[in-house]
Amino acid sequence: MPVYRIRGVDVDFPFDAYDCQITYMDRVLQSLQQGNNALLESPTGTGKTLCLLCSTLAWRRTFGEFLRGGGGGGGGSQPSGSQQSGASATPLSPYPVIIYASRTHSQLRQVIKELKATSYRPKMAVLGSREQMCIHEEVSKLRGKAQNNGCHFLCKKRRCRHNNIVTEYMKSNNELGNEPFDIEDLVNIGRTKGPCPYYISRELSKSVDILFAPYNYLIDPGNRRSLTGIPWDNAVLIFDEAHNLESICADAASFDLHPNSVTSCIAKAQECIQLCSFKRSIENSADKQFDPENYAILKALLMALEKKISELVIASKELGYTKPGTYIYEFLSELNITSETSKKLIETIGSASLLLEEGNSGETKAGVKAKSTVSRLETIRDMLDIIFRGGGQNHAKYYRFHVNESRQTSGDSLQVFGSAQA
Ligand code: SF4
Repeated sequence: MPVYRIRGVDVDFPFDAYDCQITYMDRVLQSLQQGNNALLESPTGTGKTLCLLCSTLAWRRTFGEFLRGGGGGGGGSQPSGSQQSGASATPLSPYPVIIYASRTHSQLRQVIKELKATSYRPKMAVLGSREQMCIHEEVSKLRGKAQNNGCHFLCKKRRCRHNNIVTEYMKSNNELGNEPFDIEDLVNIGRTKGPCPYYISRELSKSVDILFAPYNYLIDPGNRRSLTGIPWDNAVLIFDEAHNLESICADAASFDLHPNSVTSCIAKAQECIQLCSFKRSIENSADKQFDPENYAILKALLMALEKKISELVIASKELGYTKPGTYIYEFLSELNITSETSKKLIETIGSASLLLEEGNSGETKAGVKAKSTVSRLETIRDMLDIIFRGGGQNHAKYYRFHVNESRQTSGDSLQVFGSAQA
């Protein structure tokens, strides 16, 4: 393969590079060497992905060899000062970790295909969702938060056999990630050998040179929090096809509240009251977490919210209406939901989710039935998190409060959108 020396870095490139590719790689290396952000454009078909991969990996290798797991194939010496990560027993890299994000998984699949065409073999991992990776016969049929809750529930009780063998599998297969692989390869491993592909990818991601992930893993705070072990302060973030980024950020920071969701949450709050009363009667427990009074307050608040939404007057059914983002504080303060009271509310919703998970545990073999309504309660919690984050109202200036009439069912829908401009 041709080798190009650019800004003092030897870049292996799989083909003879065009001038525009050399220029592109030069700019990538410039920003990496100077530790600056770069916004790089190049016309379609000019091999941006290949240029990004080759130049970034060549730069990364100037620090030291790539990580290797397993029998030491092909990678050279381990960097000094490295530590062992839990299950994978591959050393953590003391060097910058490259996080390569793209919008969809099919775009990532294409990037991984391009990596295979290069001479670089960094230790890698690819992240995906449970929807793509879960192989549990019941949980794999669920979607969204219901699926996440079902998985958490089973793992907590050690009732997913696929999860139970991940650590063992990783210990005896720590060469995984030495060669480029895709989500489909992980799912095949799960189906043929048994370990959960989702948790294999999570384990692998703790100790890699390059991590491939869809945008939402970096942008959505909940997803980001779940990525433990990634040294964010020593990472290079690459957003491929970044023109999609703005709308994805706005989506991640916005919420949409439909009265039907509030109605389901009221039913769940009522269920919590009954579960608590029952729990107290058989366990004679005075545990505050299971105080029915808390859930009665939650139910009353949700009923007031439902009523308030139903009373909103919309002059134009077509357009709805829009107010500045700060209006949400006025709207909620009339229900006595403020920065102070929201903390208690968020706590109560958290314990309600636990209570409902436990309450549902006897309903099916896996105990995952009816989690979708639990997740609606969590939508309210996420909404409060967005509104009251940081305890201040500064971020509200970037938002708009929009009310419109839902076309599918009767009832107003309240939407709060993030906006790129103040
Ligand atoms: S741990 Fe089990 S339930 Fe969770 S994603 Fe893996 S296979 Fe599915």
